[in-house]
Amino acid sequence: MPRQPNCLATETGHASDADWAEYLRANGLRGTRAAIAVLKALEAAALPLSHDELETRTAPIDRVTLYRVLDRLVATGLAQRIESSERAGRYVAVQARADSYFECTTCHRVMALPADPALPQLLSHLRRQLEKQGLESTQTVFRVQGTCADCGADAGKAASARN
Ligand SMILES: [Zn+2]
Repeated sequence: MPRQPNCLATETGHASDADWAEYLRANGLRGTRAAIAVLKALEAAALPLSHDELETRTAPIDRVTLYRVLDRLVATGLAQRIESSERAGRYVAVQARADSYFECTTCHRVMALPADPALPQLLSHLRRQLEKQGLESTQTVFRVQGTCADCGADAGKAASARN
C-alpha cells in the first residue's frame, strides 16, 4: 500500500527527519533541511505562527528561504496561510490543530481561546452543514480579534491621562 501523503504518523511524536523528508516528497516537494525545519516548527506550534515567530524557531534559515518554503507548503496544501491583523498573515500546518485562537489587533499577540467543549461541537456542526451543501471543508479556523488585557489596560491609562 502506498503511504497516504496526508497521514504522517505524528500522533506518536516520533517522526524523524527522514519521515518528514518522505512526507514532503510524497507531496511533490523537495525534502530540504529548510522545508523540514519549517514544517516541524508549524506542527509543533499550538497556535498559528507569524513570519517572525517562524524565523526565530527555524534559525539559522534566512528570511528569503523561509518565504520560499512557506509559499511551497501553502501551494501544496501542507500549510495554510491565515489572514491576520498583521499584513504578513500567520501560518499553520494543515495537520496541526491550531483551529481556534484570539488575536490582539494592537500587539498582534496570539493566544488560545479558553477550552470550551461547545467550540469543537460548533465547528463540527458547521462542517456537517457544509457537507449537506456538498462543500467539503479541509480546515476550519475560528479566529477572534480584539484587544488583549495588556493593550486594553494601556488604552485605559492613556484615556485617563488625557482626561
Ligand atoms: Zn495586545
